[in-house]
Amino acid sequence: MNILILGPQGSGKGTQAKRIAVEYGVAHVATGNMFRAAIAAGTTLGLQVQPLLASGQLVPDDLTIGLIRARLQEDDALDGFVLDGFPRTMAQAEVLDAMLAGIGRRLDVVLELLIAEEICVERMLGRAREEGRGDDTPEVIAARLEVYRRETVPVVEHYRATGRLVGIRAERTPDEVFAEIQDTLEQVEERA
Ligand code: ADP
Repeated sequence: MNILILGPQGSGKGTQAKRIAVEYGVAHVATGNMFRAAIAAGTTLGLQVQPLLASGQLVPDDLTIGLIRARLQEDDALDGFVLDGFPRTMAQAEVLDAMLAGIGRRLDVVLELLIAEEICVERMLGRAREEGRGDDTPEVIAARLEVYRRETVPVVEHYRATGRLVGIRAERTPDEVFAEIQDTLEQVEERA
């Protein structure tokens, strides 16, 4: 199954994507994690993207697309994947659609996590206290949400138009949200 999960920062996207990957045996492809790993390893890519992540700006599309193109060809992604954090610009979405069409694959479902922005902000501030993620400061959170509204909401609308987008009520507990995702994925599997 090829799954895309969309939702603002703090919507629980990463948490849910990880669970989907474990439960359904698909690859968890999370661009944010890949960039943080590159930064931690001190690679050329890491050095390039570090200031962008620190300030909440997007990494340029060419770098992000190159990374995803290679990642989706790895063995563990051949049977299915859950994309988390990509695409988040219309240019990325168009490349993804073309890339998948080119290899005869498609997104089986697009999950949209529905949640009020104030709740996202509260969650990210809580996460900052617990995990100390460098981009969870009030200023950077505001910048990331602004980028989401401007660049990623059009991506949500693009996939809504395909008829394969399903809304998930994401203001509840992680277990409740995951249960709703499981119901949705079961229906998708029956349809396939
Ligand atoms: P969040 O969505 O909570 O900000 P992520 O881990 O998904 O967290 O992303 C962290 C940062 O990594 C983003 O703020 C951005 O700088 C960069 N990033 C991740 N995915 C992409 C992408 N698809 N395109 C451009 N930049 C990205």
